[in-house]
This record gives sequence, C-alpha cells and structure tokens, in this order.
Amino acid sequence: MRILIVEDEINLAEALSRLLEAQHNLVDTVYNGTDGLAYALSMQYDIIVLDVMLPGKDGYEIVRSLRAAHVQTPVLMLTAKDDLKSKIAGLDSGADDYMVKPFEPEELIARIRALSRRQGNIVLEELCFDDLILNLSTYDLICKDKSVRLGFKEFGVLKILMSNSRIITSKEELISKIWGIDSNAEDNNVEAYISLLRKKICYLNSRVIISTIRKVGYRLEISYDKETEK
Ligand code: CA
Repeated sequence: MRILIVEDEINLAEALSRLLEAQHNLVDTVYNGTDGLAYALSMQYDIIVLDVMLPGKDGYEIVRSLRAAHVQTPVLMLTAKDDLKSKIAGLDSGADDYMVKPFEPEELIARIRALSRRQGNIVLEELCFDDLILNLSTYDLICKDKSVRLGFKEFGVLKILMSNSRIITSKEELISKIWGIDSNAEDNNVEAYISLLRKKICYLNSRVIISTIRKVGYRLEISYDKETEK
C-alpha cells in the first residue's frame, strides 16, 4: 500500500514510517499541514495517517479540503486530545477512523489494515479466472506476458462470465444485462461476441475456454489438455 503520514512530531512520524515500511508499504512522511494537503491532493494514496494539531493547516481542515476535492482516500486521525468533542469534530470533517495518542503501534497497524479492507471492497480493479486477468478500468484482457484490449460489449460479456464462473450464464441473461431487456438483440448477437472472445483468448494462449452448454448457456472452464500441448 502507499501511505501518507502527516505528523509534526518528528520522532513519532519517523517511528510510524519505519514500522509501516517494515510491513512492505511505500510511505511518504511530511511534517506540516500545508505539505500534507499538497501531497494528499497530488498523489494517489491508499491510506492517510493524519495528526490533528499541525503547523500550517490542522487535520480537520485538511480532511475537509480533501473531501471537497472528491478525494475519498481513507483517513486515520491521530490526536493527543481524548475528549469526545474532538473525536466528533474529526469524524464530522470526513475522517474514517480516530486514534488517541499515545497508542500501541500494533493497534495502528490493525486499524490501517481494517481501513484498507474497507477500501478494497469499493475499488475492485481486476477479475481473475485461472491464468486470465480482466482489468476493469482499461478493458485489457491479460494472460502472462500477452494482452488484448476488449471492445465494450466483449468486455461486458466476459465480465459477466468471469464474475459468475461457477455457474452457467444463459444467453437471455447476457442479452438483458448487456443489450437491455427491451433490445432487439438475438441469440446470434451473443454468439458473435462469444466467438470474438474465444479468438482473443486463444491468441493469448490461455488455457481458459468458453464452453457452450447446449440449450443452457456458457461457462468458463480450464482446458488442461491445452497446457500439456504447449
Ligand atoms: Ca501535532
């Protein structure tokens, strides 16, 4: 994960940075609010660990500015004040979690892990099935060192098959999800896209195949023969 630490107590900031780097994170550390906001706006972080009392801008101000700029990175606030009022102020400003100093380093690690999991549920970037990876933002279909870009409808069909890889997907379901229930699309529209996808998957030398289950629909399967052929 890429983590930003904004903390003006240099010893604490550096101890946190070492701890998080030891857990294989990439960490940027800044020591005042102005730099904190500038870094948080210019770089894509997975988590921001943010002190409340900072020179330049305070933590509440920074979170409010980030949320106003539609930056939704989870923020874990750190503060020395353990009164209820400052806790409410932190969460009101848009922070996701709150820790009172002093805290145990293990607790910070656990809270960061929990926040990143929450984030992980929202941002799903790839779907995988055996040796195939479908990138959901670029529409690239990847197998080992080869990749192809899928068209909009090809992507839609394969995304549904990869999301439901344990079950058979009917042609009617593909038509209603991709062309719309009221469309004039017919079975042969689906067949045409399945055929295009098969060619692309074959080009990638993947061992995944789109099987036709007669009169029912399609399902992804793994061809083990194909692997031994190679
Ligand atoms: Ca401080």
